[in-house]
Amino acid sequence: MKIAILSGKGGTGKTTLSVNLFSYLNKATLIDTDVEEPNSHLFLKGETIKEEGVFKKYPLVNDDLCNYCGKCSDFCNFNAIIPAKKKVLVFQDLCHDCGGCALVCPTDAISYIDKEIGKIIYKQIDKNKLFLYGNLTVGEISGVKIIETLKKSTQNEELLLIDSPPGTSCSTVAAIDGADYCIICAEPTPFGLSDMKMVVELLRADNQNFGVVVNKSNLGNDDIFKYLENEKIELLERIKFDREFASILADGKLLINHSEYFKNKMANIARKVLGDKYDQ
Ligand code: SF4
Ligand code: SF4
Repeated sequence: MKIAILSGKGGTGKTTLSVNLFSYLNKATLIDTDVEEPNSHLFLKGETIKEEGVFKKYPLVNDDLCNYCGKCSDFCNFNAIIPAKKKVLVFQDLCHDCGGCALVCPTDAISYIDKEIGKIIYKQIDKNKLFLYGNLTVGEISGVKIIETLKKSTQNEELLLIDSPPGTSCSTVAAIDGADYCIICAEPTPFGLSDMKMVVELLRADNQNFGVVVNKSNLGNDDIFKYLENEKIELLERIKFDREFASILADGKLLINHSEYFKNKMANIARKVLGDKYDQ
């Protein structure tokens, strides 16, 4: 079973929910697909068992074969390849590795070479818990390939939690693809509600099953609860804001180890989402 945890914006407590739910369960695998800013690893202590590079291909032009016809440039939607007077310029960071320019080149002047765009780090948390996170190299513009590699590496896991990137970008779409259930993490503020609505639209368009956890539920207003009721969206849990939580998190500690209240919340969410697959 694959469960994605996502949010309309950063700072809603999505990572807190992901790492604590993962730690609460007896047996699970967690992947942090927020590859531009991974932070789950700050809370999960374990041994790094493997690191592997993720590569994309980008074009290399043989000037001796090129006739500067411009067909590669016409084809490229990302302005990543542009013929100048005596050289074809390739902007590696803009290239999306689609392979199209080589297909349209009439003189076979284009070949491809590999470039490392980031890494995947594997951590064994304990004998039943595996955690992987991706890290996009600074300057690279798309982490989708790293997300797809993370998903492929864990496709046979019995219970997979996916900490998704915030928002509704193509990275989020890649992260939730194939999920059996999605948990939206939201907060009861006007911005929180409006960002959550975009996630709801995305999930409905994708025919996903989902529910909502409202964080900092004792702050803000009731609009989010009215919206969930009107839209018949399952409210999985309300989790209150507590200053003590903030100081525990600031120390890189797991809330389930320091708060019975929070641990009970994770138990309820696990029961509701996993049903008879729940094992704790
Ligand atoms: S399509 Fe091929 S031949 Fe034409 S400009 Fe591009 S690399 Fe050169
Ligand atoms: S591989 Fe695709 S994205 Fe990259 S330069 Fe060629 S056409 Fe553009």
